Amino acid sequence: MTRYIFVTGGVVSSLGKGITAASLGAILEARGLSISMIKLDPYLNVDPGTMSPFQHGEVFVTADGAEADLDLGHYERFVGSSRPGRDSNFTTGRIYNAVIGRERRGGYLGATVQVIPHVTDEIKRSVLLGAGDADVCITEVGGTVGDIESLPFLEAIRQMGLEMGRENVAFVHATLVPYVATSQEIKTKPTQHSVKELRSIGIQPDVLVCRSELALPDEQRRKIALFTNVPESAVFSARDMDDLYAIPIELRSQGLDEVLTRQFGMDLPTADLSEWEQVVEAGRNCEGQVTVAMVGKYMDLRDSYISLNEALGHAGRRSGVKVRVRHIESEQVEEEGVDCLAGVHAVLVPGGFGERGIEGMVRAVTHAREKEIPYLGICLGMQVAVIEFSRNVTGLKDANSSEFEAGTPHPVVALVTEWVDESGQVERRDEDSDKGGTMRLGEQACQLAKGSLARREYGEPTVYERHRHRYEFNNRYLEVLKKAGLGFSGRSVDGLVEVVELPSHPWFLASQFHPEFTSTPRAGHRLFDGFVAAAVSYRQRGDLPAKAASAGGA
Ligand code: GLN
Repeated sequence: MTRYIFVTGGVVSSLGKGITAASLGAILEARGLSISMIKLDPYLNVDPGTMSPFQHGEVFVTADGAEADLDLGHYERFVGSSRPGRDSNFTTGRIYNAVIGRERRGGYLGATVQVIPHVTDEIKRSVLLGAGDADVCITEVGGTVGDIESLPFLEAIRQMGLEMGRENVAFVHATLVPYVATSQEIKTKPTQHSVKELRSIGIQPDVLVCRSELALPDEQRRKIALFTNVPESAVFSARDMDDLYAIPIELRSQGLDEVLTRQFGMDLPTADLSEWEQVVEAGRNCEGQVTVAMVGKYMDLRDSYISLNEALGHAGRRSGVKVRVRHIESEQVEEEGVDCLAGVHAVLVPGGFGERGIEGMVRAVTHAREKEIPYLGICLGMQVAVIEFSRNVTGLKDANSSEFEAGTPHPVVALVTEWVDESGQVERRDEDSDKGGTMRLGEQACQLAKGSLARREYGEPTVYERHRHRYEFNNRYLEVLKKAGLGFSGRSVDGLVEVVELPSHPWFLASQFHPEFTSTPRAGHRLFDGFVAAAVSYRQRGDLPAKAASAGGA
């Protein structure tokens, strides 16, 4: 039978609850358990797909094509067996959608439909569905205890604790223990209040994970234990760490997993975290640094491209260098030119939507192409690479994507429904006007051309990567761009262009898919490994004294 661990948060949001849940999953997995991970989100959007990255950070895409909360990215990076999917993320909107849908179909047989029991029952059903047949299901409840929005979720998990028994259900509460610098004191009061709030709705936590700047002194742990009715041995200190991937090791060393497996009556071998130790060690041993310019939108918020930042970091650990990402708003390139790219060892244009900043990205691509700086384009980054090549190498003046300019004379990127056939007819399919769920989403096969850079980097003829976009390379322009020197090295099974590259350039590759979603700290990702290695070579070329370099080149 599956055991359930519910992770709630108190005092403030952005406590790193997702990473705490994922780290716990990593430890339990290392004890031989299969793990499923779920995120419950209190907001009313059915999924985060239509939200700006400024709202909740990146939209993570699962293999089965769900647009999900970024915490699912942490789960997948930390817990190999978890494989989050469509049924790993439930929002209030999705729950209500299901309840109201059922009501409209007459599924409640005339009953008055209410939050309790109908909404809470739907939440419980969803958790059971997402848990599957894993040994342990870890469910993170988004939001902060005390929010009105979280109440139905908390009520549902309270009921699960009662119905399944506390030998099968455990509650972990993550809170903040702030340090007040002026009085040099560690304050436990907010944690006491948060647990009081949780207990007032019937949930007594079994474990507290206290987030703090520095390790929590025993005296404070004792105090928290006493006032919250949680045994001292179950109050854990999660201090700020400079390496995310060291958190499972830290929590395991304090015995977090032990408290929970004991509660579940499980007798298991100790956790083997040697792979995590290697990851941390690799991070510590990095020497030197390469700088990657990430030119895009939403650069103010680090979480907008969290999977991408992580993927670059994974590759850095594997290559033994620190990867510093210089986040550059593409509008800055529009206004000030490419000076802001001075000194970078690689350029990356990530995914994005809408017209703003596109011309700056195009200029960044021109710079990388002409100066032979390694370039990686992802999704929108592939589309702007195609636009740049069409305009500046192929001579298709004003080439563009129909997303940015509806009447462009050369729609080198367009909706498939807008590709014009030989007779000039636009083939139109019925499009759903609903903005949610109209995209090409999730994992699809991509075949890589023999002899291409993509094939060399991946080392395999067919790869499976995730998509999230509406627009496609317009195959009508394939021949003319090919003649001008653009390499088409990846195609989907149904012939859509997935990867382009420049054979005349040391390392220039752009993909329509998002490789960052499948990079993990333990296994890395071959495309990012290749990109970072190319950045290192570029730096080394630049490091050579000018004379030696020109002699070498002669
Ligand atoms: N806006 C582009 C499209 O919809 C690219 C999307 C993306 O980069 N994820 O096709």
